[in-house]
Amino acid sequence: MTTHAPADFAGQHITVAGLGVSGSSAARALAGLGARVTVVDGGDGEKQRAAAGELAEQGITVRLGDGDTLPEGTDLVVTSPGWKPDSPLFAAAAAAGVEAVGDVEIAWRLRGPGAAAWLGVTGTNGKTTTVRMLASILAAEGLNTLAVGNIGTPIIDVVLGQGKDGEPPYDVLAVELSSYQLHWAPSLRAHSAAVLNLAPDHLDWHGSMEAYAADKGRIYEGNTVACVYNAADKATEDLVREADVEEGCRAIGFTLGTPGPSQLGVVDGILVDRAFVENRRQQAQELAEVSDIAPGSGPAAPHNIANALAAAALARAFGVRPAAVRDGLRAFHPDAHRIQHIAELDGVTYIDDSKATNTHAAEASLAAYEHIVWIAGGLAKGATFDELVQKSAGRLRGAVLIGADRALIREALARHAPDVPVADLDRTDTGAMSEAVREAARLAEPGDTVLLAPACASMDMFVNYNKRGDAFAAAVGELTARDH
Ligand code: ADP
Repeated sequence: MTTHAPADFAGQHITVAGLGVSGSSAARALAGLGARVTVVDGGDGEKQRAAAGELAEQGITVRLGDGDTLPEGTDLVVTSPGWKPDSPLFAAAAAAGVEAVGDVEIAWRLRGPGAAAWLGVTGTNGKTTTVRMLASILAAEGLNTLAVGNIGTPIIDVVLGQGKDGEPPYDVLAVELSSYQLHWAPSLRAHSAAVLNLAPDHLDWHGSMEAYAADKGRIYEGNTVACVYNAADKATEDLVREADVEEGCRAIGFTLGTPGPSQLGVVDGILVDRAFVENRRQQAQELAEVSDIAPGSGPAAPHNIANALAAAALARAFGVRPAAVRDGLRAFHPDAHRIQHIAELDGVTYIDDSKATNTHAAEASLAAYEHIVWIAGGLAKGATFDELVQKSAGRLRGAVLIGADRALIREALARHAPDVPVADLDRTDTGAMSEAVREAARLAEPGDTVLLAPACASMDMFVNYNKRGDAFAAAVGELTARDH
């Protein structure tokens, strides 16, 4: 619980970097609090002008075509996620002694006395799934809660909306935090937090793996009850060790194996807690069965069992009863495009994991099935594919490659899985996914899984990963229509 008064932004001259979704919403919220807001953006296109027009109506100044110079008299800079920390605007702010922060920091500073506690989740992959599992568990406990993150209501609006219009205030928030947001949130102090895993991603933004890890590790700073780490990913445990936490805050591990003391884990298909029990040396508390995890969506993939354990650990740190963990996991429905079962046709299962946009996610995905025809490719974002292919080679019945950087995957397959048949589709038009799925169906044998887990971003061929997944599902639908 916070006891201090919320920050007062009235009268401050705040410069918001970026006219995107997050920048515009921060600008509106801050103007609503009485700040004098200027939004700066390097672009000057039609889209920016339209957005600028809307903000101007609310008394917000917008400067287009120059995102580098700091407006005269700025007291505080509020960043947007797309802006790299080495952008000239931040250098100018630093030189002028002006603080730069992100939307999460603003939200944190706006919390009033008695505000809801935050349970934080970060990691390279699994954040959205875990906060949604966590919110489902907290709700099953009867708590008023919300999953907050990169989707849905912006976090500043959630905090400002607390208890407004006669709505009961939130008891606790399940907050997804990206490495960008953590970078710019120096005073955030979560009740408890989890780092799910750590693999190279977004290194172009952070500059190095060390800087990326350090930003992720910020989530543990000042935790009061539990720092939750992944026992299978030593880097996450190292971050706990390095964090400066409140007296009495505990390190809690999660593992897909048998848990040690102060860990949550799995024994004979049962999720068990050896951390939040009276006598953790001798006792273990049964929480749920593995089959309780989103029971309508087929058997849980191992990475989703790990996500469930992390969510359970945070909930238990907040005092949630074991039965609510079970009920919350049962009530949880995974979001679309994350290991989504599309169809079963001639004994072949079609799974859409379009959200596997990096190699670490695709590796988890591929580990969940025994015989796979893998549809992959897109924008590699500087990644290499050797390790992924090496680890997954034994499971591959075949591979179908699409997208701009498919040659990188083809070469890795040639090096580490030369016997795996590869269909390399040299087209990026809208019909390419249909051909990819037809090729995959041709390569698959009964009992196999055709898995869209591209290990790449989608923007070379699709608007986003959602559209890529939709195209996959539509293509599978065409197969059904034609063959049956
Ligand atoms: P995020 O919000 O971090 O992007 P999501 O929950 O949306 O994570 O999952 C994104 C993708 O990452 C999933 O489609 C799956 O392929 C993979 N994934 C999910 N959880 C994990 C995990 N714990 N470890 C590795 N990969 C994971």
